[in-house]
Amino acid sequence: MLILLPGPVQTRPEVRAVMSDDIAPWDDDFRAEYASMRPRIVALAGGVEGEHVSLPLPGCGHMVVEAAIRTFVPAGEKVLVVQNGGYADRLARLATEAGRVVVPLHGPDNLPMPPEKLAEALAANPDVKSVAIVVSETGTGIVNDPNILGPVIRAAGRRLICDAVSGFGALPFRMSEHPECDVVVFTSNKCIEGLPGFGFAVAPIKRLEECAGNAGSWVMDLADVYRHALRDGWGSFRFTPAVQALRAFRVAMDLYDAEGGQPARLARYERNRDAWYDGLQALGFRPYVERRDQGPIVVVVHQPEDPAWDFARFLKLMKARGVIVSLHFTTKTPTMRLACIGAIDERDVAFALAQMKTVLEEMGVGRRAAA
Ligand SMILES: *Cc1c(COP(=O)(O)O)cnc(C)c1O
Repeated sequence: MLILLPGPVQTRPEVRAVMSDDIAPWDDDFRAEYASMRPRIVALAGGVEGEHVSLPLPGCGHMVVEAAIRTFVPAGEKVLVVQNGGYADRLARLATEAGRVVVPLHGPDNLPMPPEKLAEALAANPDVKSVAIVVSETGTGIVNDPNILGPVIRAAGRRLICDAVSGFGALPFRMSEHPECDVVVFTSNKCIEGLPGFGFAVAPIKRLEECAGNAGSWVMDLADVYRHALRDGWGSFRFTPAVQALRAFRVAMDLYDAEGGQPARLARYERNRDAWYDGLQALGFRPYVERRDQGPIVVVVHQPEDPAWDFARFLKLMKARGVIVSLHFTTKTPTMRLACIGAIDERDVAFALAQMKTVLEEMGVGRRAAA
């Protein structure tokens, strides 16, 4: 099967193979393996060993996003959420339900948030101390670049929280150049191409120490993850970790390095993006985002308006041809998401496009109507 979802992504067989062993997470051998991963994770985030620390949290991406908000925004305090997409809406909901006060900065979901708009919002809200952004908006494919928004936040003396889940490892970002950044969160799946099962946060040690006691949740307290590791040693997890996913992540990092790290991964995803963007248009699909604003993580197109179009049937017919496409969309109007990320290259995209062409013909979906 060719999995073209923007999470969980297609993975390589070498990554999946190491999931088959039983591992005792507290065993000395595995502790050493895990210890060797920690500085590599800090380096992936462009952090500095001794100043920044990587914190593992078993679970899905939303859990580590909530953990970041709980840890770095005290209960009852305001957090400005750059809210220009479906995943940003989710972040706002997590924050609200955790008792944080969300100040939304809305924007169209097909455009990155302009830095001037953010600067205005911060000037108008002097009591907001933190800003949360979704770096790569997985609902539409736009990118709110922390390299552009970060300096605005720094200039205003505020703090930045990055949900970097879908773009981390592909989009360039160096924490060491962003003193305004409290935390970057990501998962073992997505652009590092490991298996799902772990969330990670990279954060400045100084801020973690200042934020002890904020979370109001033992499970989701990143400051407690840090404190526990200092007390009992790294690799002594508080709760049962998805240890196979950790080992698979180590193998995925090896493959990531062998490919050439972040620049190589970004280049491959950009080739996938271009193949999707051009190929889908050639099939008559209309992109949701202009080419200028189209990020390299996911390409989103409008579903055809042709009466012969039936999304569920399309997905079934594609699956019968060995290709799995996401059934979820977060936009107000019906769209379809095609992943550029995962262990795929432009030949896989070409294969999927060829299957789409056949399926559309089989369904009798007119190309012009699809535009
Ligand atoms: C995938 C993703 C998440 C996390 O999703 P889970 O299903 O909880 O793992 C969070 N934010 C963004 C932007 C994502 O793309």
